[in-house]
Amino acid sequence: MKDLLMETASRAARYLTGITDRSVAPSADDIGGLNALAGPLPEDPSDPKGVLALLDDAGSPATVATTGGRYFGFVIGGSLPAALAANWLAGAWDQNACLRVMSPTAATLEEIVQPWILELLGLPVESGVGFVTCTTMANFSGLAAARSAILHDAGWSVEEEGLFGAPAIRVVVGQEVHVSLLKALNMLGLGRSRVETVPADAQGRMRVDALPAFDDRTIVCIQAGNVNTGSFDPAEEICARARQEGAWVHVDGAFGLWAAVSPLYSPLLAGVQNADSWAIDCHKWLNVPYDSGIVAVRHPEHLRRALSSGSAAYLTQSTDREPWHYTPEASRRARAVELWAAIRSLGRSGLRAMVERNCRQAQRFASRLRSAGFGVLNEVVLNQVLVSFGTPEETRCVIAELQCEGTCWCGGTVWQNHTAMRISVSSWATTDGDVERSADAIIRTARTVLARTPSK
Ligand SMILES: *Cc1c(COP(=O)(O)O)cnc(C)c1O
Repeated sequence: MKDLLMETASRAARYLTGITDRSVAPSADDIGGLNALAGPLPEDPSDPKGVLALLDDAGSPATVATTGGRYFGFVIGGSLPAALAANWLAGAWDQNACLRVMSPTAATLEEIVQPWILELLGLPVESGVGFVTCTTMANFSGLAAARSAILHDAGWSVEEEGLFGAPAIRVVVGQEVHVSLLKALNMLGLGRSRVETVPADAQGRMRVDALPAFDDRTIVCIQAGNVNTGSFDPAEEICARARQEGAWVHVDGAFGLWAAVSPLYSPLLAGVQNADSWAIDCHKWLNVPYDSGIVAVRHPEHLRRALSSGSAAYLTQSTDREPWHYTPEASRRARAVELWAAIRSLGRSGLRAMVERNCRQAQRFASRLRSAGFGVLNEVVLNQVLVSFGTPEETRCVIAELQCEGTCWCGGTVWQNHTAMRISVSSWATTDGDVERSADAIIRTARTVLARTPSK
């Protein structure tokens, strides 16, 4: 075992060292090399060292270098050194975080990081927290708590009776609602299409002047950090209205809530702490390994009522916080290990520095591309930049060529009818040098594409 782990560690280190020089996207040949992993079902055992060698030799080259400093697709963070190393140790521990008795370490680390994260994000310290896989499940869990609370107040137990015959719940979302929130509504029986949709302004923010009246059967879903523009729904006004009218406010704050760690950006989040539930990704801007998200709910009893299992005699429970009462899953890996290591290693100031550096780098991208004559479509308020290189066809062509060229990786989107390239700066590993090198590559690629377009 020891030899295998030491050799694996050196393979992993070699991978991470090599990542600075290789193409961010794998080549077609590298992807073709994955065939070496296929074959008929193995009938007999083979040496673990050989298994690992094959996995590294064929698997590593075909990975996308998302953990390096020049990946700007979607919203993808890397893995902080302490978080990755903690993840290895946690792998060796192989703890089941379901129950305290199964893993006092996992249960205790959850209790330690819970107030740390709430404090970092400026959320109420009394909130209940569940450690889930991602924002999709955090949205699911927060909305399950909302559904439970609203129906509980109406004298209906959704946990026991389901939704058939229950009082109707209204759901209000912004026009720019993330698809994962709609998926959560779908899984909860609230429906993706029966939502009331509030129109958005040019940055994608919900328009306060267009809000419907709320009531005490309404869940209002707002966003902190739009995936395209990085903009924030006006939480102050919406939470104040919801408070008056008895509605529940759920915040999809996948990456944007982390802006709370910086006094430069926290004003964007004003009022967000007055909501009732929050969904946050940790594998994005906190830069812990996949997968990791958290749900926070102001009044923990709603989360617990919505998600706790019935009792089974063999699942011994203590009177302390039992992790599985706050998550959809029972058996679960110990995600709090990496959260603890990440926050312990960065500290509040290190996290703030990372967020501010990424936002400054996004500004740098925007100004380099503007000076080169290209159109930046959004107000760059956070870490997201949208760029147009001309016609939709030209922009799509620049994105495709950039991805092949390999210096960096950016994806595409359509923002309010404009085809655009998205640049999301979310990694601790991105240096200012990476930004200059990537901006050079984007500008060079765009000029090459435009030079051969007949219309130019
Ligand atoms: C990324 C993102 C999600 C989905 O997060 P997953 O971790 O992929 O489930 C939801 N909402 C917003 C605003 C996001 O940026």
